Formats: sequence, C-alpha cells, structure tokens
Amino acid sequence: MLHKPIPFRLYLTRFNYQQLILRELRTKSSNRYTQRNGEDDELKIRNPIENQEDRLYFHKSKGQHILTNQRILDSIVRKSNINPNDTVLEIGPGTGNLTLKLLEVSKKVFAIELDKRMEDILNKRVAERGFKDKLTVIWKDALKAEFTQFDLVVANIPYGISSPLVAKLVYGTNHFRSATLLLQKEFAKRLLANPGDSEFNRLAVNVKLVADVEFVMDVSRRDFVPCPKVDSSVVIIRPKADIPKVNLDEWLAFTRTCFGKKNKTLGAIFKQKKKVIELLRLSKKMGPINENVEMGDCCGCSEEDDDERESEGEDFYSSSCSELEASSFKEKIIEVLKSGGFEDKRPSKLSHELLLHLLSSFNQAGIIFHDQTEQKNAGNTAFAASYNS
Ligand code: SAH
Repeated sequence: MLHKPIPFRLYLTRFNYQQLILRELRTKSSNRYTQRNGEDDELKIRNPIENQEDRLYFHKSKGQHILTNQRILDSIVRKSNINPNDTVLEIGPGTGNLTLKLLEVSKKVFAIELDKRMEDILNKRVAERGFKDKLTVIWKDALKAEFTQFDLVVANIPYGISSPLVAKLVYGTNHFRSATLLLQKEFAKRLLANPGDSEFNRLAVNVKLVADVEFVMDVSRRDFVPCPKVDSSVVIIRPKADIPKVNLDEWLAFTRTCFGKKNKTLGAIFKQKKKVIELLRLSKKMGPINENVEMGDCCGCSEEDDDERESEGEDFYSSSCSELEASSFKEKIIEVLKSGGFEDKRPSKLSHELLLHLLSSFNQAGIIFHDQTEQKNAGNTAFAASYNS
C-alpha cells in the first residue's frame, strides 16, 4: 500500500524539530515506525504547533537509512584523515548528516544523490551552516555518473549498490587516497576476508589485488533511521601504490572462472566440457562461445553455479570443435594444473601470488581467458558500473 508523502515545504519548516525526533528515536524503541510488510518505511512525526501528524518516507528500495548517531558520524570523519585541502566524494548524502561533517573539515564535497526529494533539505541545512559554496551535488545514479577528480571517498552508501560501486571505485580511472565506506556487515566481511576464510570469494580476490582493506568499526542497526534489518561495518579501502603486472581484463575473466563454482577444486572447474570448449575457442580467437559467459559482476558476491549450463557444452562441442582438438586442449589444461600442483586445490584457499602464477602458466601455454580482440575494459568506469551486485 502506498501512502502519499507529505508536502515537502511542510517537512522543511519542521526540520529542526524532526531532527530532534530522529535523534530521540535512536535511543527509544522503534515502535514509532510503521513497518509495512517490506514496503517503504514511514516515519510519523507529530507537529506540536498544528497538532497533526506528518509523514516522512524513506524508500528501502533506495537504501535510505539515515545515520543519526553523532558519535559514529564523528568517528567516520576522524578515521578518514581528511585534510583541509581535500575534495571528498560522498555517495548518497541523503538529508546531509554526514555531508555537514565532511564540509566542516574539507575543501570541497562532491555528492551524488539519486533522490531529488533531498534537494531542498540538503541545500537548506548546508546554507544555514555557511557551506553553500563548498558543496556540489550531482543528482544522478552514482553508478551512471562520471566522477570528477576527488581525493577520497567517505560515504554511508545504499547497500544495494555496494558491489558495483566498489568495483567502479577500485577498477575505475580515478586516483584517490582512500574510501571510507559504511557497508552491510556481511559485505564488509567478504571484503576483509583472506584466502582460506569462508567469506573469501571473487569480490575479495579482485578488490584485494588492487587495494588494501581495513576494518574500522561495527555500527549497530539502532544507529539508523529507519532501523535496517542488517548490521553494518565501516571499512577503509586504500588503492595499492603498486599493483601486480597483470592484464586486468584477463585477471577478471580468470577469477570469474575460478570463483564461479563454489568450493570446487581447480581440476573439477577446468575439466568441465563447456569450460574446455570455451577456452579452446577463445585461444583460437573464435570469439566468445556464449554471451552469458562474459556477463555478470566482476567483483560480485554471487557465487553462481553454472552446472545447469553444462549440457550446452555438448552442442558447442560437436558444432565448433573436433573431439580430438578438444581432448588435446583439455590435456594441455590439466598439464598446466598438474605441473603447478593446482589440480586438487580450491581457488578460495590460494593467495594472489599463486593465482597470478597459475594465470601466467595458463597464458604461457596459450590458454587465455579474455577475448583480447574486444575493446579494452579494465579502467573504464562504465565497465565496473555495469555489473550488478
Ligand atoms: N548518507 C546519508 C544517507 C544514507 S542512505 C546518511 O548517512 O544519513 C543512502 C542514500 O543513498 C539515500 O539518500 C539514497 O537516496 C541514496 N541513493 C540510493 N541509491 C543511489 C544511487 N544509485 N546513487 C546515488 N545515491 C543513491
């Protein structure tokens, strides 16, 4: 059921009062919210002057959970080590709780916000504090917006875009010092995971090739309005000064193969008929075998299992390659795995060094993972942004 949002002007004139209520809410029980079966949350606020109830709507679909704990907001800013000369990029400023604190300590804030309903409230609060000239807001989807140059990112982001946003940042063209991000706790755990940890997946392996990730603190769901269903953590991502010399397109395609099948050994992954044919065709520069193979999220947390597509391999097998050709190519793959002692290993247990070594051995044997004739993707922000979480 959809309720009509309050007239925005009414909301503005009562903003300070509402702020008090919002702060109060974080210490009281959340029974002042009306949860409507997974629909958007509704925050009911009683206006003492007109003695009527106003409604302010936060859309779950847009990840709208306002961080109201001043202590947490201050810690996030402090831990970000912002210099007075820094330009800060903020994704999803919302009503501006974090934005105001960023403006206090930086030279400039670039904010990207999807929801135009926030415009008046944000502008008013920023003007009241005398920061009008320091803030530029781009009213767009952060995944589609082009980022202008910035020194660092500090943001309580909408959790629904975590994966493509992190990909866009770390595999994008912008050079920045660090990204302090408030993320869903489970997502943060994956970013922080190391080889051998149960959470270590393609997201972790890809991000950590090019960046270091540091845990900062956990944040309780009670520190947000409305209260989300999940806990949160703050992490700082710092792009590495030196990244391994590897073709990033090739690396991303390789890890997509290695981490596409949860918990399987490399032997099991690379012996699949469909995979053998796909790699054979690629190595012969016959073009991609199947559009699906090239789609999905480069850093994604989804551990998609494509067993059900296995049978398709039979058709490709008979139509595009001779049996002899395919079986000798399979032998070549197995030989590479065996000679490095990789056949029985699980990718999630291997360090970057070992994975890079395996990729290099494959490449030297003429086994490639990314169609080099395609337009170069890595470093193109649109590439990273096109992936879904
Ligand atoms: N930073 C604020 C609000 C966080 S809620 C605070 O800490 O209080 C997340 C915000 O991101 C919301 O304002 C939501 O409208 C915005 N948002 C959601 N999807 C977005 C997208 N794709 N691009 C930019 N902003 C987005």
